[in-house]
Amino acid sequence: MLFRQLFDPQSGTYSYLLADEETRQAVLIDPVHEQVPRDTALIGELGLELLYTIETHVHADHVTGAWLLKRRTGSQIALSGQGGAQGADRLLAHGDKIAFGDRYLSVRQTPGHTAGCLTYVLDSEDMAFTGDCLLIRGCGRTDFQGGDAARMYQSVHMQIFTLSDACLLYPAHDYRGVTVTTVGEEKIFNPRLGGQISESDFAGYMKNLGLDHPKKMDIAVPANLKCGRPQGADLPAEPPVWAPLTYTLAGIWEVQPPWLEENPGAVQVVDVREAEEFDGPLGRIPGAKLIPLGELAERCSELATDKPIVTVCRAGGRSAQATNILWRAGFKQVANLAGGMLRWRAERGAVDGGIG
Ligand code: FE
Repeated sequence: MLFRQLFDPQSGTYSYLLADEETRQAVLIDPVHEQVPRDTALIGELGLELLYTIETHVHADHVTGAWLLKRRTGSQIALSGQGGAQGADRLLAHGDKIAFGDRYLSVRQTPGHTAGCLTYVLDSEDMAFTGDCLLIRGCGRTDFQGGDAARMYQSVHMQIFTLSDACLLYPAHDYRGVTVTTVGEEKIFNPRLGGQISESDFAGYMKNLGLDHPKKMDIAVPANLKCGRPQGADLPAEPPVWAPLTYTLAGIWEVQPPWLEENPGAVQVVDVREAEEFDGPLGRIPGAKLIPLGELAERCSELATDKPIVTVCRAGGRSAQATNILWRAGFKQVANLAGGMLRWRAERGAVDGGIG
């Protein structure tokens, strides 16, 4: 199985991508709205088909990426039927199975932090995703959204601590940089729920936490009750569509060689190699303008502002950097030619000069 733990530094949220390596079918647990470009890039680069986004609960500290991912990738939204959210494609209940390829997650109801909290246990029972029910050496708060300390104690002891001691536990958050724990570890070291702590000890502890409400709660909860669908005016900006662009996990907009081959007049091609490479054996794209990368920042006034720019170099690395330089200089319709001259030549693109 393919597994990736992803982190949103703003909210301290972990998202988890799980995929069956054979069929490439994937699920994404607790996606974050602001991280949708990152997550779609990763899913695209790994060649995955996202079947479901899955929520552990209605979050109060960040807006889910579920709705936006559905729009961008066609994924279905799955969450608890107990959380009160509208707009899901699948409402989950205790005992349900969420299949992806030959693998599945089973659903365990673990209320306490909210009334609708779910924990997802992998088919092999060596990994579980506990949301804000059990955190590493802690647990979620129980003082709003239908929270209940006694129910949380029962959830942890009946549904999570009953897994094997070696089972890895992945929470929805950690604010100290710890990424994973185990059932055995938490049974011993969790200061709220481990050791000999009883249900009434725990309830007393939780009653006296005295926490402020989360900063984003007034925005996050209403948005998450609609699965992250923004208000009309808050629709995230889409990049200008002047070519079929792809966004990479490295944060670069790219265009593929066949599109440039078919639309040679639609853009300014800026070649950021050195002059001797421009005149060297790989040749150059007909009509390309030479501006070596080191000169680009000061010479970008030579470029037209009303025509999109495609940058190119030998292999696509320097030209990726060039898109950042041009973006900062105010050019917003800029993309990197994926794979550079090497791929252009391999795909038999038209060339001036060069050998072969
Ligand atoms: Fe939460």
